[in-house]
Order: sequence, then structure tokens, then C-alpha cells
Amino acid sequence: MAVIYLGLGSNQGHREQNIKKAIALLASHNVNSLQRSTIIETDPAGGPPQGKYLNAVLKAQTDLSPHNLLKHLKTIENQLGRFKAVSNGPRTIDLDILLYDRIFVNTPELTIPHPRMWQRDFVMIPLKEIAPDLGSIAFESKAGQS
Ligand code: ADP
Ligand code: MG
Repeated sequence: MAVIYLGLGSNQGHREQNIKKAIALLASHNVNSLQRSTIIETDPAGGPPQGKYLNAVLKAQTDLSPHNLLKHLKTIENQLGRFKAVSNGPRTIDLDILLYDRIFVNTPELTIPHPRMWQRDFVMIPLKEIAPDLGSIAFESKAGQS
């Protein structure tokens, strides 16, 4: 069983319900929730003009490999009505893999830890809430890279 951290975001439709539905759907895809952060409202980062997001981070357990996990997340995004639109554009749900145990993945379709998480307050604030130690490790490793 791997312990994973997922980033969830929504800025279309019933945003809170989308996040909660995604967590419920995850359970039927063998991703079992351990702890959810507070849901926070954030300004969109880049992309076209669009509404504010609700964001949360989920700590969960899974037997899925990183690539299979990504496939399941994309299935859930589609189930909740996300369609491919402009880059960084509005979405009913965005599910990102932030961390997967302590492993590193670097392939064209999947990078773990999520490469843009460090500079995103909408990820780091809820992540530090549920994993204060991990949050500081994350910041240290980012500082070490620069
Ligand atoms: P973003 O989440 O950056 O706003 P998308 O949700 O549209 O953008 O994701 C684009 C692609 O990023 C996905 O199709 C996926 O293959 C890739 N990707 C790379 N690393 C990750 C990761 N850690 N978690 C989720 N998607 C990832
Ligand atoms: Mg995404």
C-alpha cells in the first residue's frame, strides 16, 4: 500500500460537491481516503479569465501503481464532466498526484512529485495543514534544487 497525496481543484459547477464526489469516486477506484484538508477558495493561477477555485489536498492509500493511479484519476475527471479545453482553463475537477510515498517519477505523462506544487499556495497551504512535516521537507528539497 502506498500513501499518496492528491491535489483537488474545481472552479465550475457545484465546486464543493465536485470535490466531495471525486473523493467518493476515488474509493470505488481503490484509492481510500485517510485525511482531507480544509477546502479553501483561491484565485485562478494563469490561464484565461475564470472563476475562483476551491482546492483541497487528500491523503490516501492505494495499491495502484503511479501510472495506473493517473489513469484512474483521468477516468474520474471524465466521469465528473471535465472536458479538454484550453490549458489552465476552467474545470469541474482537477486531480493531481502530488506525492506517492517518497518515490520520484519522471516520464512524459507523469512527474512525481508534482513539478509545480512548490510554488502553488493552493497546494502548499492545504498540504501543510494535513502533513506539516512533509510540507517543510517539500520546501527544503525545493530550496536544495535552486
Ligand atoms: P494541470 O493539472 O497542470 O492544470 P492538467 O490537469 O490538464 O493540467 O494535466 C495535464 C497533464 O499533466 C495530464 O494529462 C498528465 O498526463 C500530466 N501530469 C504529469 N504529472 C502529473 C501529476 N503528478 N499528476 C497529474 N497529472 C500529471
Ligand atoms: Mg491536473
